[in-house]
Amino acid sequence: AITIQHIVKNFSRDIQVLKDLELQIEDGSFTVLLGPSGCGKSTLLRIIAGLETPTSGRVLLDGQDITDTEPGQRQLAMVFQNYALYPHMTAEQNVEYGLKIKKVPKEERRRRVQDALAMVELGDQAQKRPAQMSGGQRQRVALARALVKSPKVFLMDEPLSNLDAKLRNQMRVKISQLYRQLGSTFLYVTHDQVEAMSMGTDIVILNQGKIMQRGTPQQIYTDPQNTFVAGFIGSPP
Ligand code: ATP
Ligand code: MG
Repeated sequence: AITIQHIVKNFSRDIQVLKDLELQIEDGSFTVLLGPSGCGKSTLLRIIAGLETPTSGRVLLDGQDITDTEPGQRQLAMVFQNYALYPHMTAEQNVEYGLKIKKVPKEERRRRVQDALAMVELGDQAQKRPAQMSGGQRQRVALARALVKSPKVFLMDEPLSNLDAKLRNQMRVKISQLYRQLGSTFLYVTHDQVEAMSMGTDIVILNQGKIMQRGTPQQIYTDPQNTFVAGFIGSPP
């Protein structure tokens, strides 16, 4: 589980982006962080990933304090909205790179990279560079790059927002499939209510750096706890 304890983030003295957040993300859940633009979703995800330092508070992974642990040592894998692939590397090299850095032996690397590319149905695209691939294929390379690490937790920041509606639906199904297949913990950021409700086992609704409600999609939908949640969920996507 990931435990967020009293996380505060200020970017300047008068701008508090995260306001004393308390949150537990259960093992094996598909937890969706849902909220409007600017509410602090990416900031929270980046703090969990170690890409951003909280002003105060702690992050625990399975009870262990990782607040000061290097991003590479956190057993988490992040998938970014803009894919963040290396343009000069092939799909295969992009997926393999993190394992190389970790000095995983060549044979094991090859096997794991092949498995990861197969899971996202990119086995036949392994030698292409990002510029030679479609948006959906790039996003699948980014997914494979996370999968290959066998992380405890997958962190995904609006991974589908750059895709057209059809691809977005396909990738939504793919990610849900991977989640069921792996049984790992997923923490998924979106501002899309439909995406959240269809994919999540747990929904956390964030607004202006505070948690407005936490519950199953059913609970959020049938029993909104405040006018913000009611308005946000009720409004058309
Ligand atoms: P979106 O859905 O648009 O991606 P978000 O919920 O992910 O929004 P964040 O990126 O976490 O929002 O940003 C939350 C707030 O913090 C915003 O007001 C943003 O302007 C501010 N912010 C984020 N990063 C920085 C930074 N490096 N310096 C100053 N302010 C920042
Ligand atoms: Mg964001």
